[in-house]
Amino acid sequence: RKITIAIDGFSSTGKSTVAKQLAKELGYVYVDTGAMYRAVTLFAMRNSLISSQGVDEKGLIEKLPEVSLKFIFDEKRGFAAMYLNGEDVEDEIRQMEVSGNVSKVATISEVRQKLVSQQQLMGKERGIVMDGRDIATVVFPDAELKLFMTASPEERATRRFKELQSKGQEVSYEEVLKNVEDRDLMDTTREDSPLVMAEDSIEIDNSFLNPEEQYKIVLE
Ligand code: C5P
Repeated sequence: RKITIAIDGFSSTGKSTVAKQLAKELGYVYVDTGAMYRAVTLFAMRNSLISSQGVDEKGLIEKLPEVSLKFIFDEKRGFAAMYLNGEDVEDEIRQMEVSGNVSKVATISEVRQKLVSQQQLMGKERGIVMDGRDIATVVFPDAELKLFMTASPEERATRRFKELQSKGQEVSYEEVLKNVEDRDLMDTTREDSPLVMAEDSIEIDNSFLNPEEQYKIVLE
């Protein structure tokens, strides 16, 4: 019997690594909901709806019907890449500039409604691993397995910093740590669907676990 697996937690806690491994092992579909919020953010940036003043919420809500999101499996990457209006934006949505704006965009209720209903549609067929912030609480409150991943902000920033460096992005550790802390704050304090652990989630603090150790725990 196939089940629904919800993986939530703070940014850079290794949610997607675990989710991808699980999906591969079980033959399930993997959905990275953060990529969807990032793609909407990229759309807003490209349409000059984000400035130093913040996000033009009204403008973005008006243009939301023009946003079409799709995941298309990519052999080379080994997972489904994010497509925004027919264009592969998988790499662009990982840039620091998008990371700096995404949590603001994710506070907008209309954006959340659109993405949550799309996510629920994708999960109609069981056999899905979805990672995000509100999967166990809002998207699939009936998920059979709920995991909540945590790690210290410093540990998460170190991992993220190394990852960005290996991709050739020029950022400082301090900048990455600040982004991690800013997003934690915005994600946990927003009015609509704040990041909280569901009562029936299993918490995994991986500050002192390597990916192999963590995966063993999750599989069990
Ligand atoms: O998972 P990732 O770090 O790529 O997500 C980027 C941002 O998107 C998060 O910091 C959060 O603000 C938002 N997000 C959300 N709900 C989700 C997934 C992501 O609000 N289910």
